[in-house]
Amino acid sequence: MTGALKLGTTHYVGLEEAAMEYLSAELDEFVQISTSLVKSFGFLQSRVKSKFPKDCRKCGKSYKSFEEFYYGTDEIVQGTVSYPTLGSEFYLHRNCKSPCESTLVVIFNDRRDDTALGCRRREVFQDCLDKIAARTPIPCAAARTFLLGLLARRIQEHLAKASC
Ligand SMILES: [Zn+2]
Repeated sequence: MTGALKLGTTHYVGLEEAAMEYLSAELDEFVQISTSLVKSFGFLQSRVKSKFPKDCRKCGKSYKSFEEFYYGTDEIVQGTVSYPTLGSEFYLHRNCKSPCESTLVVIFNDRRDDTALGCRRREVFQDCLDKIAARTPIPCAAARTFLLGLLARRIQEHLAKASC
């Protein structure tokens, strides 16, 4: 049978364009919330997974805590990646101080977020899943993976625009 829907990630092209259209408002809101949250020191600190002290392999500087790391290193545009991989990990890249400038990475757990923004973010995610379920035959688990892929792409696009 031709035109059969395959659920491997590489077969979503047409569906993805359609979903970008009908989920446009929700995706924008989700990206907005996600990128606001990851700019907050408190949000990040509550999720740190990397062990401290963290040492720079290049210059040997030791960052005793996440706080010291956060305030003692330089921001990189697009420094936070892989958010939102709900329930998974995301990363923050920052540069060691000049003249070292080596890029260091801290890993975070994306655990449940019960702040107002965090709750709203889950609602928007669920709204998107409902809309996908109403319009396509994708099974629930695959729809979730599909949606996370869309969101990750939207966030990368947003960050790329912000760095121009
Ligand atoms: Zn260094």
